[in-house]
Amino acid sequence: MICYYCHEALFAQMDIINLFRAQEPLCENCRKEISRWRTGRRCTFCHRRMTDEESECLDCVFLSERYQPPGKVTCLFDYNEVSKMLFHRYKFMGDCVLAEVIAMFLRDRYGEYDVITPIPISTARMLERGYNQTAMVLDAKGIKYEELLGTSRIKRQSELGKNARSRQENPFFIKKAAEIEGRRILVVDDIYTTGITVHQAMEKLYTSRPAAIDVLTFSKA
Ligand SMILES: [Zn+2]
Ligand SMILES: [Zn+2]
Repeated sequence: MICYYCHEALFAQMDIINLFRAQEPLCENCRKEISRWRTGRRCTFCHRRMTDEESECLDCVFLSERYQPPGKVTCLFDYNEVSKMLFHRYKFMGDCVLAEVIAMFLRDRYGEYDVITPIPISTARMLERGYNQTAMVLDAKGIKYEELLGTSRIKRQSELGKNARSRQENPFFIKKAAEIEGRRILVVDDIYTTGITVHQAMEKLYTSRPAAIDVLTFSKA
């Protein structure tokens, strides 16, 4: 077996514990590099690295003036050089076995939630990429989810600035309203950049009166 990230051979210790456990597709070194957090002061809510001039996180201030926030935001990785490359290969170069690498860092269960839902991607993106990069990680971990939302988004978000993004019409629409009311929902996204995408998704979900919404993001840019 090889490490899915660096493609070096993995040598498993064949002791009694490993014998009955599926081997993880990542070497020790890559595991360490991917999970390394860069130093610096961070926003305690969204985990963004703040500049010295910021007394509070300007991204969170910007969002809270426009959207109802989630209860909390959990983030699996920092967006360091290694994880950035991991996501680039996974999302844009078709290296879809990396879903299993990202899935390794998820918990087995998110039992405190009634519904787990990934941020949807547009039909155009689905045709181009062939998979929803967030849902595929949940699949790799065997986590059940519901596609509560759909999207009509056409333009790539990375091509737009923060203000342009927030001014845009909300591209999401509700597919399964009956599964939202009174439920505790975990919204899962791949990379939390400005946070606008996930807040627009929540804006739609909040209209169907969920009990609570939290956010899990694989990485925080
Ligand atoms: Zn490796
Ligand atoms: Zn923040």
